[in-house]
Amino acid sequence: MQLARVYRKLEQAAFRVTPQRDRVIETFYRHAGEALSAEDIERLVRTESPLRVGLATIYRTIEILVDLGVVSRVNTGDGRARYQINEDAVHQRHHLVCIRCGQVEEFSAHLLDGVEARILADRGFHVMDHELKFYGLCAICRPGTEEVHV
Ligand SMILES: [Zn+2]
Repeated sequence: MQLARVYRKLEQAAFRVTPQRDRVIETFYRHAGEALSAEDIERLVRTESPLRVGLATIYRTIEILVDLGVVSRVNTGDGRARYQINEDAVHQRHHLVCIRCGQVEEFSAHLLDGVEARILADRGFHVMDHELKFYGLCAICRPGTEEVHV
């Protein structure tokens, strides 16, 4: 699941994505791989954006994100509820498509963060997701193969 699908899922669940809730989702996304408590989210939103988001809104948003399978509760052992965005909700997946055998491999990396920042700065367009495919020859097809022109 990528971020655009997360938003579609929210819409389908009749969950109105307000700027405040969007901040919460984006904070989870920005800090993918970190286990965050509602208080952490509150603090991060405060330092990263001019928007104020109350703890009640954060708790409610987390609850819905957990229900939708976007965010999972993480046990950290300190008794504090912490949450983390699910790996498949993070839009960093790209595809490597072999033009010979048709095999599609996934390749994960934050390749386009700089590009997205530029699109926002230059065009005022807030990129939520992207799709990227690389065409070439896979590791099996590559050795000893003749040049393939596309
Ligand atoms: Zn191949």
